[in-house]
Amino acid sequence: MAKSDNFDPYEVFRRSVERYGDLPALRIGDRTWTYAELDAHAASIAGWCDRNAPSGSRIAVHGRKELAAYAGILGILRSGRSYVPLHPDHPRARWQVVLESSGAAACVADPSSTRALGDLVDRPVLSNWDGERPADVRQGSEAYVMFTSGSTGGPKGVPISRSNVSAYLEHMLTHHRFTTGDRFTQLFALTFDLSVHDLFVCWGSGGCLCVPGEDSALRISSYIASNGITVWFSVPSAVALLRRMRALVPGAFPGLKHSFFCGEALSWDLAHAWSEAAPNSAITNLYGPTEATIAITSFDVRAAMAHASGTVPLGGPIGTNEVQVSGDEGSSEGELWLAGPQVAQGYLGAAEATSRAFIHLPGDDAVWYRTGDRVRKDGEGILHFLGRLDDQVKVLGHRVEPAEVDFALAPLVPNGTVLTLATTLNGTTRLVTFIDTMMDTAPLVARLQEVLPPYMIPERIIAVDGFPTTGHGKVDRNALFKIADNG
Ligand code: AMP
Repeated sequence: MAKSDNFDPYEVFRRSVERYGDLPALRIGDRTWTYAELDAHAASIAGWCDRNAPSGSRIAVHGRKELAAYAGILGILRSGRSYVPLHPDHPRARWQVVLESSGAAACVADPSSTRALGDLVDRPVLSNWDGERPADVRQGSEAYVMFTSGSTGGPKGVPISRSNVSAYLEHMLTHHRFTTGDRFTQLFALTFDLSVHDLFVCWGSGGCLCVPGEDSALRISSYIASNGITVWFSVPSAVALLRRMRALVPGAFPGLKHSFFCGEALSWDLAHAWSEAAPNSAITNLYGPTEATIAITSFDVRAAMAHASGTVPLGGPIGTNEVQVSGDEGSSEGELWLAGPQVAQGYLGAAEATSRAFIHLPGDDAVWYRTGDRVRKDGEGILHFLGRLDDQVKVLGHRVEPAEVDFALAPLVPNGTVLTLATTLNGTTRLVTFIDTMMDTAPLVARLQEVLPPYMIPERIIAVDGFPTTGHGKVDRNALFKIADNG
């Protein structure tokens, strides 16, 4: 057995059930479940999976942050199957794409989500597992499939193996000193792979996962205090929002011991403000694409705080993962490539996209994932983020390929061209879509709401009478940015 098999996500939870059965494992709003209680739910759901889906199959989880989703994820893994989360706020057409391309054989949902799914799923749906015969633990190979925005149309599914997750958990659970008294945030949507860190780093430590109730999701400061949160994990945008709400004051969060950030660039300015608000907390900047399982590089922010400005570095690879900077010979700048135990093998049913992004080098067995991120490696081997090499952007930490918006709109603009751009105002990225023919844009927004997640809906759609062009006849993006900024 490979060393990191001990850090299998279900296994780390199961060990905590054995050791800390009576301790709280999950708190949603005001309700709490112990490790033993949560495992009993998971065992019943695993039993249902055994009776309703082929072994080793994928099972969708409707990701409303209710017991069904958390026990569902555990139950699916316990049964040796893999989970595919559906975001409760995404349109049904998106769920359909995810269900079809993942081939999910069944679905776990709470009763109200089951109603929302309606006739969409012609597969067995579980919403009440009372009386289901519990199942034994089974080994599995795949842990989950997460879908990210794709530049050639629909979303891309990334299958992540249990050994990919094990490698991440091994680093997190051995490198950071969490204890059973720790209380972890759960702010990420279950469709965002950073939620996998929330769940399994917490449960692997014997801590309590604290899910904000719907009413406290916006009142983060009181959520931290009333739940005694000690471990924070969010995208930097969430902290920027706290600062705009004037909640990021020095000494505001004295109980925090660990803070993790990931998903987008963290400015030193924000890191400084956080370090003052959470004076007793270690601060770690994590970096990684979904394709490399949660996060694959790590940087200790406090160790470098004194003279820092600009963007917090990405640091170096965790565990036995490897990085290389692919650029001009002799240059320390270029595209970041990743390899190692956390890197996925490719996309679901998308051979072409896979062969573009996951490559083999001559004389090297490793699969290298080309991130599209531009980085610089300094003399000490520390990676610094310089931006993207393509059009991909982050909107509140969510990955967006503007071309996916264009693809969704194109059928409604048969006589024109659609171009979505991202502009940043006061540190907030927003999408603006241009159409090179005069038309009523109101129906277009309605159409997008039917097929895209809310964060992919452009803030504005602007129709212009032909795109401005540069001297070389190309679309003049700068002129379009000016229209977006002025309008
Ligand atoms: P996702 O697959 O949604 O996690 O998005 C991955 C992308 O987010 C990366 O390829 C980067 O462009 C960006 N990203 C993630 N973490 C960081 C970070 N700490 N600093 C800068 N960019 C980041």
